[in-house]
Amino acid sequence: MGFVNNAEWSLNSHSRKWFDNDGHNTLPFSLANNIRSLDDINDFYVENNSNFIRWDLTWNLCQTLRHQNRFGPEFSRFNSFNIKCLNNCLPTIDNLRKRHPDMYDSTWSCHFCGHHEETLEHLFKCTSIDWSPITNSVINATNNLTRRLNINSNLDLNRILTTPSAIQTAGLPSPIASLAAGYMPSYIFARLRNSGILHHSTTIATGMIKSAVQSFRQYVWKERCLRQTNKEQQLGITKSMKRTYTGNSRRSQYLQTNTTTTAYHAAKEKWKMATERGLTMMTQVIRLGSHGIDNGWAHYSNISHSLAKFL
Ligand SMILES: [Zn+2]
Repeated sequence: MGFVNNAEWSLNSHSRKWFDNDGHNTLPFSLANNIRSLDDINDFYVENNSNFIRWDLTWNLCQTLRHQNRFGPEFSRFNSFNIKCLNNCLPTIDNLRKRHPDMYDSTWSCHFCGHHEETLEHLFKCTSIDWSPITNSVINATNNLTRRLNINSNLDLNRILTTPSAIQTAGLPSPIASLAAGYMPSYIFARLRNSGILHHSTTIATGMIKSAVQSFRQYVWKERCLRQTNKEQQLGITKSMKRTYTGNSRRSQYLQTNTTTTAYHAAKEKWKMATERGLTMMTQVIRLGSHGIDNGWAHYSNISHSLAKFL
């Protein structure tokens, strides 16, 4: 899995939205139009050469985690969480629905706000999620790291993690949510450099992404999975049911009795009835055919007439 030089990843993954049509990681034109203040110019252009996202730092983190993978199961679990998160492979409702459209119908929504469809993208924008524990963890981890590296700077991380005025209305995830998603918007990196972090800027920036992903997993994802498991248990969805693809009759029965009928289910029922009607007609035609061949068609002209209309 490459990032920096891997155009295919930029074009095919769910991170597609961060790249332009040619797969280039440049600041979108619509955002560049809003850049008017000197601060914004510093944030977006001076340090990063108009790169939009610092994918090199994501790559750094992936390499570090791959190295740490061998340290033990918890390292390995975090490594795979990070890779799944970057590639939108976590079992969010929209992903689960691809495998079990019946089980995870439209009655399932975000476990935090309760009304939006749960996608990974939504989790990074959901207004019902409290991001302050994640912000605090990132601030603490970064301060510890600068201390360990003997850097004497009073980093104002709260300022570094505010959304720049140029992109306030762009509908992008907040700075802390972007870090939690595994990437660093270039303005955060520029602010670190402008705050005097020069020699160890990539180490510190990579550390920020790592602690944000870790805290997101701890404070948001685990809580989300807890709520998900509770709801699944309440509805009697077992692990073995989740392992098999939809089409299992036991599950269809269960769904008919336990969930409210949605437009999807109504359409499916209608389709099933139409198929059954068609099959009955087919059987009649076949039976009639064999009678006709055996005894001649004259006796069956009345029935064959109505069937002929159907056919
Ligand atoms: Zn939500």
